[in-house]
Amino acid sequence: MAKNPAEASKVPGMVCPQCASRIVVTMEQLLAAAPIRCGNCGLELTVDREQSRDALQSLEELRRSLQQFRGAQ
Ligand SMILES: [Zn+2]
Repeated sequence: MAKNPAEASKVPGMVCPQCASRIVVTMEQLLAAAPIRCGNCGLELTVDREQSRDALQSLEELRRSLQQFRGAQ
């Protein structure tokens, strides 16, 4: 667990289960279910689309509203 949860939550990503370093995951990677590689130990993680379906749907909605926001400017 990060020392400062508020700070950790600003960065999208997850903690590597092998070396516990922070892996930065982009929204695009999550939505594409692309393999995510830990920059520290090289462990490769795949997103389980079924398990993270709710989270992915929220991300997709967020992405859409961001696009609409950008398009309106
Ligand atoms: Zn790692």
